[in-house]
Amino acid sequence: MKRALRRAADRIRAGSPGPATAGSCNELAAATGPDPEPRTPGLCEECAALGEQNWAHLRICLTCGHVGCCDSSPHRHATAHFEQTGHPVMRSHEPGEAWRWCYRHAEMG
Ligand SMILES: [Zn+2]
Ligand SMILES: [Zn+2]
Ligand SMILES: [Zn+2]
Repeated sequence: MKRALRRAADRIRAGSPGPATAGSCNELAAATGPDPEPRTPGLCEECAALGEQNWAHLRICLTCGHVGCCDSSPHRHATAHFEQTGHPVMRSHEPGEAWRWCYRHAEMG
């Protein structure tokens, strides 16, 4: 009984796409250099192209400097950028915020 439960837990840990345990994300660990210059400082690149001005928050891609809008925004361009490019780590582009996020592991760091 106990052993069966433990095996189930192992399977969940190995196969689940859910949040990883702290420290397991090599993308966050690797993104230590100076951040790239934002390509469109203070603007979501795709929203600006669309003429859309109603985004909630901005995120900057730490691979290429793309600035996109967050998942609370109508177009979610930061997530779309990850899906299109595979660039895994972004940082908040909001004043006073410095947290980072790995899309691949759904992990903050
Ligand atoms: Zn990661
Ligand atoms: Zn946008
Ligand atoms: Zn990028």
